[in-house]
Amino acid sequence: MEIITLIKMLFTSKPSDIFDAELLPMKHFPWWDYTFMMWCGRIIYKEDMKAVIERFMRMSSGKKVIRHETLHLRQAENQAGDSWVRYYWRYLVEWIRGNPIVHPASSAYYTIPFEVEAYALEEIEGAELYYDTNLLKSKYTLENRKQTYRDHRENWKDYVKTL
Ligand SMILES: [Zn+2]
Repeated sequence: MEIITLIKMLFTSKPSDIFDAELLPMKHFPWWDYTFMMWCGRIIYKEDMKAVIERFMRMSSGKKVIRHETLHLRQAENQAGDSWVRYYWRYLVEWIRGNPIVHPASSAYYTIPFEVEAYALEEIEGAELYYDTNLLKSKYTLENRKQTYRDHRENWKDYVKTL
């Protein structure tokens, strides 16, 4: 069962097992209408979409997706003791800290330091090769997350690149 494979990945695989985010075709995941889903450094897509996905990943928007996910891989390796469980726990804590029940709810996700960093660096060639472990705390952990997001929400992904 694929769900068992996914759960096993969380507990038995380590971020340092792979160097770049990898494509992983599955039969039943992702569910709903998602084109792909990210899990433990893998970009999971429906196997019948193989040709479309592989073409997309060769385009600049696809390369950006791979770099974004590889940056999460580096974070998990360097900021969470090379453990997916610890990484997703911290990710969840940060999401809650971002106050998802207070408007605008999307700020809780977009201001997670892990996301701020990944969006800030996803267009920089080589960013995943020269990952600086200090920037997450010094640059990408925002004070007053809700207000900062409100002030810049219409161009958030550009704003974080100026930090
Ligand atoms: Zn992300």
